[in-house]
Amino acid sequence: MSRYTSDEGIVLKTSEFGEIDRIVTLFTRKRGKFQAIAKGARKVGNRFGASLDFFSFSEFLFYTASGMPLIVQGKIQKLFRGLLRTPLQWMAGEYLLCVLDRVFPFERREEELLDEVLVLWEMFLRHEEAILPLLVRFRLDVARALGVFPELRECVRCRRKVTGTPCFFSIASGGVVCDSCGREAQRLFPLALRELEVLQALVDTPVGYGVKLPQGDRKAFEILDVLVAQYLSYQGERKIPDFSSFLGRELSW
Ligand SMILES: [Zn+2]
Repeated sequence: MSRYTSDEGIVLKTSEFGEIDRIVTLFTRKRGKFQAIAKGARKVGNRFGASLDFFSFSEFLFYTASGMPLIVQGKIQKLFRGLLRTPLQWMAGEYLLCVLDRVFPFERREEELLDEVLVLWEMFLRHEEAILPLLVRFRLDVARALGVFPELRECVRCRRKVTGTPCFFSIASGGVVCDSCGREAQRLFPLALRELEVLQALVDTPVGYGVKLPQGDRKAFEILDVLVAQYLSYQGERKIPDFSSFLGRELSW
């Protein structure tokens, strides 16, 4: 078997390694999330160009002997540099990387999520107003890929349909809890009727049609932002910030 392989994907994170190298966490089509070494990547005018930058979709050539693969070459296929235009677009674009970096397991191939990131970056550029709904939806899709998509229609305790009424969400049981079951339980996340409706509508909408996502209800999305962040943190066993807190921190590069 050749020690050279090619694959396409995005960079989730990079960190300094040795004097002039980088360790790069990638998310690729064939292999999912894994780490590779980019030798000389911190030298000015290095051979990787912008292929190791955030918001690049690139084709990489790897060499694997023992240990971590080496990135031999990176060729940009698509660059979403427009995301750097406004802080909101930039941070939204980066937030997708943060979620995958923190809660997605290594070595698990998930092409649909990779494609979804590319679609979302494109949509952030065109529909800044849809960013918050799209970020809620993205985390639900990550939960789906992890096999922990929450139950949003039936009470996870009594199995009765939950529609048209305020209810609760149980992070530990992974779904909605009806009003009557919720009264006795503890540590539940309360959901107003509008928040429940928005959540149910979000998962029914194909992601490529983001502009048609339920909108105009900023408050509901801010609450759902917190809910899905807590849910994924619990399920992924690693804390991710909600997007509002993420926006508030300092830019990372
Ligand atoms: Zn119930």
